[in-house]
Amino acid sequence: MKKNKILSLLLAGVMSVVSLTACGDKAEDDDTIKIAYLPITHSLAVLEEAEELQNQDGKKLELVKFGSWSELLDALNSGKVDGASVLIELAMKSKQEGVGIKAVALGHRDGNVIVVSDEINTPADLKRKTFAIPHRQSSHNILLNDALAKGGLTIDDINVTELAPTEMPSALASGQIDGYCVAEPFGAMGVAVNAGKVLYSSEELWEDSICCGLVLTDNFIETRPDDAKFFVESYKKAGNNLDKETAKATAKKYFTQNDDVLDISLQWISYNDLDITEETYNALAEKVKEYGLSDNPPAYSDFVKNDF
Ligand code: ZN
Repeated sequence: MKKNKILSLLLAGVMSVVSLTACGDKAEDDDTIKIAYLPITHSLAVLEEAEELQNQDGKKLELVKFGSWSELLDALNSGKVDGASVLIELAMKSKQEGVGIKAVALGHRDGNVIVVSDEINTPADLKRKTFAIPHRQSSHNILLNDALAKGGLTIDDINVTELAPTEMPSALASGQIDGYCVAEPFGAMGVAVNAGKVLYSSEELWEDSICCGLVLTDNFIETRPDDAKFFVESYKKAGNNLDKETAKATAKKYFTQNDDVLDISLQWISYNDLDITEETYNALAEKVKEYGLSDNPPAYSDFVKNDF
């Protein structure tokens, strides 16, 4: 495929997601449950839940779409929403800084890839190359560290740059970066237009990896315990209902990515059994410390709530 064709395809994908608006009203004191999300396949369980609740009486789930993690975090940390589907490391950092939130479920299972240019065939080939991640506080950063370790390298052997997810496929196609790891479907987008290939999928690097979490504010959990219980139970049920076909149908309703991109991306991810177990959380906390994301991640008992 010609490079300008690749770039125009990528641009179409980028244009479809940059025109997002953020909503900023205070969480209302009624039956509505306001949940923040980014339009990525990692948040599909909450989108599926909204679909399933649409036809039920009573509880209303209001999805609040954001264009970046920083905008979403502002809304979560200031209590403008009742909860969010968010990179769990960002939520852990907020918790560490005193924000009253709890992680109540996983966003998804597996579902990340390390995408690299054609010249990279082993992790050792990444030496002195430039690699993009969305945020230092992310499992994408952890997966990069895990991949480098397989090649006998550390993060100090490469150039790491933080880029907006939407920019990564085109940055790889243009040679600005040599690889990236980011929430889906942006990895699949790079593969679909032949800008790069998969070097590792997340489960090859980190079994039962944790990436996104569903978090709720303590205020919501304490003042509306029945709504919180209902919301979490329907969320997990929606996750279990997300087989490949349902996931694709829901994704097509909320995102503008084409079938090729979604077909590739949805092969890598699953949404069943979204409980956060102590064992998998502690493995995440160890990696967070080992790779320098945080010296003092929140303890499972302080941060994770499973007993609804
Ligand atoms: Zn994720």
